[in-house]
Amino acid sequence: MSETDPFAFTDEDLAAGKQLFEQAWSFVKGVVDLEHLPPSGPVEIAFAGRSNVGKSSLINRLVRQNGLARTSKTPGRTQELNYFEPEGRSLFLVDMPGYGFAEAPKDKVEAWTRLVKAYLAGRQKLARVFLLIDARHGIKAVDNGIMELLDEAAVSYQVVLTKADKISRTALETVLAKTQSTLTKHTAAYPLIIATSSETGLGIDDLRAQAALVARQHAPQS
Ligand code: GDP
Repeated sequence: MSETDPFAFTDEDLAAGKQLFEQAWSFVKGVVDLEHLPPSGPVEIAFAGRSNVGKSSLINRLVRQNGLARTSKTPGRTQELNYFEPEGRSLFLVDMPGYGFAEAPKDKVEAWTRLVKAYLAGRQKLARVFLLIDARHGIKAVDNGIMELLDEAAVSYQVVLTKADKISRTALETVLAKTQSTLTKHTAAYPLIIATSSETGLGIDDLRAQAALVARQHAPQS
């Protein structure tokens, strides 16, 4: 981080982010219950957000591989925590099932709600949650529920606005200000919001830098 602005990324941060995501990334495993979480490994950054928020598109853009993270329309992987890692194995990215999907069967929703809550509240290796929020909609009640859970569990989370290309610069400024003000009421929220677009690439280098920073800050001391 820069000395003048604690939340601006330095050239070194950006270079570290670039280096991390230039590596080949691969799918490690999909996890449906907590017993199957990797027993050992690097720190984890989880991606959470409502269904259709643009989570798969964002992960694919980050890792420069279309199709690594499947879209929520793909049956199968959607109820799982999906683990991805870079060649250097310095970090796990965890793609969480999207929440707030109204048409999902009730028993399925309950099953994944249990998994998601248990993972978010109890996973020691979880260093940061990127909480994806659609820039057009801002924080909704269902997002707020997840934020409160993370506050209670004292898990650091950071809002990442998605689909920023879909709104005007002024509208983006407004949603940023409103979101910032909401975050001050949440104890575990990391104050920097990153606005992104998987279409235009806006904010992608910053998000890569942020992920690299989290990995570095939580890497075991050697
Ligand atoms: P998920 O359900 O959260 O994984 O969302 P997806 O990544 O499948 O995206 C949902 C829809 O939003 C798809 O039609 C995407 O093409 C679209 N989408 C995702 N990200 C962006 C973005 O940054 N800009 C625009 N314009 N559309 C996006």
